[in-house]
Amino acid sequence: SSGISIRGVSKVYGQGERATTALAPIDLDIEPGEFVAIVGPSGCGKSTLLRLITGLVPRTGGELTVFGKSVTAPVTDIGIVFQQPILLEWRNVLENVLFQIDMRGLDRARYLPKAMELLKAVGLEDFADRRPYELSGGMRQRASIARGLVHEPPLLMMDEPFGALDALTREQMRIDLERLWMETRKTVVFITHSIDEAVLLADRVVVMSPRPGRIETIMTIDIPRP
Ligand code: ADP
Ligand code: ADP
Repeated sequence: SSGISIRGVSKVYGQGERATTALAPIDLDIEPGEFVAIVGPSGCGKSTLLRLITGLVPRTGGELTVFGKSVTAPVTDIGIVFQQPILLEWRNVLENVLFQIDMRGLDRARYLPKAMELLKAVGLEDFADRRPYELSGGMRQRASIARGLVHEPPLLMMDEPFGALDALTREQMRIDLERLWMETRKTVVFITHSIDEAVLLADRVVVMSPRPGRIETIMTIDIPRP
């Protein structure tokens, strides 16, 4: 199963006087193929939740399974897109996408067609041999989405992916992400400050309250899709 099961998962950073509860125990299930948006004010624990799911940061308590396995180390089958894409400036765009493959010790030749297909899907086919500094903010984020998907993870996690973009670019990115999702039907967890974006993109919107860690699904939106 490519789903996520979260049971009483919590996170405290630091110890003693310096301890910060970033996430009080929460429960949440994400079904395979679901596009879930997580919204909530800054500091409510959205990024922490994403880091716990990916195994980048260890949880303090609770049961967390991804693809049916308890998370105890970084989960390699996840694509991650952050707000500020870190691209390697000395590698061209295609090489940046393939970095994901190199890092995992996978066979480049096998993933090259996939990399090109994804660059096309995000509108960067003509920029494969350009360096990141030649790209606009939106294009950099497109490259990072292609990079996040190239190893064909069943799950894509996005943390404020369009947060640093201007409104017009953001709108276009939303439309493109929706099209990409329709083509791939990956499980997507999408963190955003924008309730509009959440409602327009997601099958389900999870709202995290300002009280640390109190999470409630306040609405389930069924969007008719072809
Ligand atoms: P956002 O609201 O956009 O998620 P934040 O300002 O909460 O961003 O956090 C930005 C980065 O700073 C995160 O990577 C987070 O781990 C780190 N960070 C936030 N608060 C603290 C803190 N109190 N101590 C150490 N690092 C922190
Ligand atoms: P959000 O993504 O919703 O803005 P975060 O998960 O970044 O929230 O942060 C939740 C809380 O945990 C905040 O109070 C933040 O300051 C704190 N925090 C985040 N990262 C760290 C960290 N590395 N060390 C200490 N506190 C942190």
